[in-house]
Amino acid sequence: MNLISRRDVLGLLLAAPAGARAFAAESGGGWMDLFDGRSLDGWKASEHEETFSVVDGAGFGVTGGVIQVHGERSHLFYTGPVKGADFKNFEFSAEVMTRPGANSGIYFHTAFQPVGFPAAGFEVQVANSYKGDNKKTGSLYAVRNVAKQLVPDNAWFTMRIAVRGKDVQIWVNQMLVVDYVEPETPFRADPKFERVLNHGTFALQGHDPGSTTYFRNMRVRPLADGLTTPTDEEPVVDELYRETMRLGEENYPMVDYHVHLKGGLTLEQALANSRRLGIDYGIAINCGLGFPVHDDASVQAYLETMKDQPCYVALQGEGREWMTLTSPESVARFDYCFTDAMTFRDDAGRRVRLWIPEETPAINDAEAFMEMLVKRIEGVMREPIDIYANPTYLPDQIAARYDELWTPARMKRVIDAAIENDVAIEINNRRQIPSATFIKAGKAAGAKFSFGTNNEGAELGRLEYPIRMVRECGLKWQDIFVPKPAGQKPIEVKKWKMTEAGNSGQ
Ligand SMILES: [Zn+2]
Repeated sequence: MNLISRRDVLGLLLAAPAGARAFAAESGGGWMDLFDGRSLDGWKASEHEETFSVVDGAGFGVTGGVIQVHGERSHLFYTGPVKGADFKNFEFSAEVMTRPGANSGIYFHTAFQPVGFPAAGFEVQVANSYKGDNKKTGSLYAVRNVAKQLVPDNAWFTMRIAVRGKDVQIWVNQMLVVDYVEPETPFRADPKFERVLNHGTFALQGHDPGSTTYFRNMRVRPLADGLTTPTDEEPVVDELYRETMRLGEENYPMVDYHVHLKGGLTLEQALANSRRLGIDYGIAINCGLGFPVHDDASVQAYLETMKDQPCYVALQGEGREWMTLTSPESVARFDYCFTDAMTFRDDAGRRVRLWIPEETPAINDAEAFMEMLVKRIEGVMREPIDIYANPTYLPDQIAARYDELWTPARMKRVIDAAIENDVAIEINNRRQIPSATFIKAGKAAGAKFSFGTNNEGAELGRLEYPIRMVRECGLKWQDIFVPKPAGQKPIEVKKWKMTEAGNSGQ
């Protein structure tokens, strides 16, 4: 028996956060199969019919047939009897499995098209380890992109889609990854594709001959046409909204890699914000002396709280001793790690934190201070980090002299150290550093950059400064950092040591 009382249901509804409205129970009424488990009856392929076939699920540990997608580009459109193959509001569910390098997708509100990628409707992306596209499984393609690979190849996962009024929600397993509300006048980054809510059928994508994907248990539950959007929030379409969508369409990973759960910001709020803005987050925990995370046990406990969340999970090393507090194995369990050069021992042996005036010694000789700072930054670059955060930060005493003190020679030393150590340089939204001059020099030399806010309170920006710098400095999507796969992370492959003075290895 699988009964729950009405009170239980009410309890669940009350407990569910607003942003994570539950998907209808699969056991609930109204679900209809789109795939009969035996044949492609009720489906029609474009271009290369042979891309789609039904194979025995026994080889995949499941009973019944499985739709195999492998071959030249082709799309398989549902043309069967369920609701005359015309759906407006609905819930859809399918089990999907990818082979390495697979690229596929599930279209909705689309229509049969004999050749090419369907122009009508939306594509929900299926791509886990596929290279060259930063839109991963769960993306509402080029409208709301998911940058992080959330599920592995060679394992079944559930993909669920719900359209209600102007709202599209997408789940990958239990993770709500997209909650897109279409504005009154939808913005489209690429006019070749409609990507406007309408009505239509479903389709599966065969993308290229190097790709193999499997689908099973494809079901739909039509919902009433007159449904209203289950949110009262009308998105504001301003230039930043358009740029975020354009850059995503152009394959920039639109990720804020430097978000802290502080100032009262909860994980649930951060994820809801991320879905609302179409910017993915890397949620970073500070690790260092006197911080809540400071050893292997506290890393383990923290990671438990971030399990199966649709965001990157990052470690920010504090002070130069961060590397000595936890094992490399613990650090490697994060998606990436970063630090800044704002805490170190100066030449007199004092531990300084540059953003705290009382801890920053009087700078009588700014030139000498800069020499010391650049040397410290070069040391930080040798640490096993992915990103150098808060780059080129100067303490208040000399901040107004940024352009004068960051000479071309000093910028070059920092950029060279970043490139030599394969460390990305953060373009920091809150502090608006580094300068455009620095970013242009870094771009010319071949440095990589990441976007990061480093929020002080609960308010997260919208990557205003990084987005402006991308255009002003001509950064390409290839210039933007994406975390390295397991086995290739700096913490796993880089040799590092600390000097006796407590600074990073020279
Ligand atoms: Zn930070």
